[in-house]
Amino acid sequence: MSTDITSVRINGDRLWKSLMELAQIGATPKGGVKRLALTDLDKQGRDLVTGWAKQAGMSVTIDKIGNVFMRRDGTNNSLPPIVSGSHIDTQPTGGKFDGNYGVLAALEVVRTLNDRKIKTEAPIEVAFWTNEEGSRFVPVMMGSGVFCGAFTLEHAFAAEDVDGKTVKDELERIGYLGTQTPGDHPIGAYFETHIEQGPVLEDADKVIGVVPAVMGLSWYDCVVTGMEAHAGPTPMHLRKDALQIATKIMQEVVNIGNRYPPYGRGTVGMVQVFPNSRNVIPGEVKFSIDLRNVNDELLNTMDQEILAFIDKTASDSGLKISIERVSYYPPCPFHPDCVDAVRSATAKLGYSTMDVVSGAGHDAIYTARLAPSGMIFVPCKDGISHNEIEDAKSEHLEAGCNVLLLAMLERAKIVA
Ligand SMILES: [Zn+2]
Repeated sequence: MSTDITSVRINGDRLWKSLMELAQIGATPKGGVKRLALTDLDKQGRDLVTGWAKQAGMSVTIDKIGNVFMRRDGTNNSLPPIVSGSHIDTQPTGGKFDGNYGVLAALEVVRTLNDRKIKTEAPIEVAFWTNEEGSRFVPVMMGSGVFCGAFTLEHAFAAEDVDGKTVKDELERIGYLGTQTPGDHPIGAYFETHIEQGPVLEDADKVIGVVPAVMGLSWYDCVVTGMEAHAGPTPMHLRKDALQIATKIMQEVVNIGNRYPPYGRGTVGMVQVFPNSRNVIPGEVKFSIDLRNVNDELLNTMDQEILAFIDKTASDSGLKISIERVSYYPPCPFHPDCVDAVRSATAKLGYSTMDVVSGAGHDAIYTARLAPSGMIFVPCKDGISHNEIEDAKSEHLEAGCNVLLLAMLERAKIVA
């Protein structure tokens, strides 16, 4: 007798209980979670999740950057596993769901398969990636980045926190310095469920976000140099006011974001004014520029426009303006097979849905370099994350997990 896949449902209560239990580790008084990568609390979280995986009959593999893969065998173990996961480290003012949901949803899929004694042809794996948040150690998405070769293991090992502790020493200290070479681990397909971290689903009153792509981003540091002078005696036409020129550029950053809807984004989030004194004409202004789009060509155009604007502003004003690109991630379209698997699972389950492009980075953008990958979004309250008040509804988390189950089964293939 074959199992009718579409009748199988995950256990939403069990998923919720596990999320709440994991959230106890590093719980903050405001209802959030502070569990920074490779701390004692991270170790406790890792131990809890791998303990659950062992209880579910899974084997555990750890690689040298501390990524953890928990495996449920298939009937044909020569096939690459169908993998789902995310991260369990949090921001200092993190919430209960960012990352943790993706890991525990994948675990809930396995628990459901066990309940129903469903066998799959391909193995199924639950993964969590080291230091996704990048809060204690830079770069962000460290574990998945090393895994896909975006940067070297040595580079990641050497990263230090503010106290000078290195990733390698901390991995060793908490017992998660594994032996497998990162990337030496086949993946047949990768799915990641995640809270949206934005307001689009909630605003449209939809339950499931099908994620066709993650936006690319281009980060710059810009410095405008003028000349400090007294705010009173210096007439307007004889000033070199760095802030006055900087604000023109800042406004143009926003204009550029507005010029390329619906996915253009332009943000200045960080500004330092020197000397920052009420009656001194600002002599120097440093600020960040964050440009995003889902299309590489459009993102390039946005880049060119801000650079041209800065050139022109420098020559018009006579002030020195330096600009340096400090980070670039190309837009990441997800694999059509995985996007379709999510879309058709959502349709079979009858959930309301829309496409949502991710504006935030996720481990899935790195796995996408190695294997077909896709993401499933569920709404979070007011679109808020990286905040202790981050919240999500149990029924939405359950729905996302049901979609994950079907999408994974479509790829892993049920054995009748
Ligand atoms: Zn996350």
